[in-house]
Amino acid sequence: MSDKLVKSINPANGEVLEIFTPFSSAALETALEKAADRFRKWRAVPLSERAELLNRAAEVLEAKVADYARDITLEMGKPLTEAEAEVKKCALVCRHYAEHGPGYMQDEIVSTEARRAFVRHLPMGPVLAVMPWNFPLWQAFRFAAPALMAGNVGLLKHASNVWRSALNIEDVFHRAGFPEGCFQTLLIGASRVESVIRDNRVKAVTLTGSGPAGRSVAAIAGDCIKPSLLELGGSDAFIVMPSADLDKAVQTAVNTRVRNSGQSCIAGKRFFVHADIYNDFSKRFVAAFDALKVGDPMKPETDVGPLAMLALRDELVDQVERSLKGGAERLTKERTVPGKGAWIAPQILADAHSGTPSTDEEMFGPVANLWKVSSLDDAITRANRSVFGLGSVLFSKEESEIDQAVRELEAGATFVNSMVASDPRLPFGGIKQSGFGRELAADGMRAFMNRKTVSVA
Ligand code: NAP
Repeated sequence: MSDKLVKSINPANGEVLEIFTPFSSAALETALEKAADRFRKWRAVPLSERAELLNRAAEVLEAKVADYARDITLEMGKPLTEAEAEVKKCALVCRHYAEHGPGYMQDEIVSTEARRAFVRHLPMGPVLAVMPWNFPLWQAFRFAAPALMAGNVGLLKHASNVWRSALNIEDVFHRAGFPEGCFQTLLIGASRVESVIRDNRVKAVTLTGSGPAGRSVAAIAGDCIKPSLLELGGSDAFIVMPSADLDKAVQTAVNTRVRNSGQSCIAGKRFFVHADIYNDFSKRFVAAFDALKVGDPMKPETDVGPLAMLALRDELVDQVERSLKGGAERLTKERTVPGKGAWIAPQILADAHSGTPSTDEEMFGPVANLWKVSSLDDAITRANRSVFGLGSVLFSKEESEIDQAVRELEAGATFVNSMVASDPRLPFGGIKQSGFGRELAADGMRAFMNRKTVSVA
């Protein structure tokens, strides 16, 4: 995106919500200087004070759920009930690091010949976070809570379609009483990210987003020898074996695929179902998709809203058409969706051939791809053909199958008999083209810390 005026557009109806002026060069320079200054002081603030501020941030989030959730839904179209849950989850991650951060940062004592030897966790400085629009608050808090608890300071470059939410995030930390400069939102487009990464005051960068953006950010960070963490796309496999609880498997398959109107990196996107239960599963899966309520995301009864932007809808429509041309069959009924806005009907495509978007690309919207498989070996082989390796799901009651899936599925996570979900207590991240590094839990906190080795003779 260029740095012309930036519009927030309601994807449900195409209306302009707000127009933002990006930061001037002088404003960006001021922000970077403020971050560097603040870091020098913030790193010395006792952990108990940092924790107290994070707990206050949680209180602010909970007090303002309705406002922040409304802005999320207006800007990117997810159902309001899901936006509310997202804001509440941000409070949870703040509380998690307030409570557990000090433990994650404790010295690790090692026994050597020295009088004392240990690993100490020290903050690095200002960290740039380049974030996507799909969970506008959660993605940013997932980074910010551990970073601030660690003694780092945060600089957020948010996706250009969710700048009201980006400013709301800064607002949370301001209201909570964090000193100025601890967390700043930079209103800049993607073209200005390189200069920020290269700035000497910025010590590391994390990006959640698409492969091309990740490749560019990691290349620049590599050129500067700065740490980077990438959370990229996924095309998670969801495998169902004959021993599975079928009702639960179908319900979970629907939930994972249409949550956030289908725009979740860890959604099950490719469904591999054993031949013995395929007919039963597919009949119920299709019926559940056909029953989904598509419409106004502000209404509590809505299951699926619009996609976040028109261009994304057009891209998904193109992917579906290419998969159909390539041999896939659409199982769900034709249905009309609201005319104006970034709408697409939820749908299930079966038996797509390899070499089509269904097998080779991430489909970021409410489109499920379904295949019949002859065995777990067959399912895992097909699952691992993807270039992505974010999450994966197995529905089975057989311990030997669970062991095999954990061992052989190429993914950063395998969830058994439930959908993949991020949880502050568990590390989160991918392998292959889904990225590298881990967020959340202790890993997320240490990602941007100097694990200094100390040996005292
Ligand atoms: P995107 O186009 O890559 O944008 C993400 C962020 O990167 C935005 O702030 C964007 O800024 C910026 N950006 C884009 N190109 C850039 C470049 N060349 N250099 C520097 N920054 C750049 O991704 P998206 O479409 O917003 O998000 C959807 C993708 O994110 C999906 O692939 C999804 O799977 C992935 N995702 C992954 C995770 C995970 O945890 N693994 C979580 C959520 C989403 P502008 O908006 O200004 O262009």
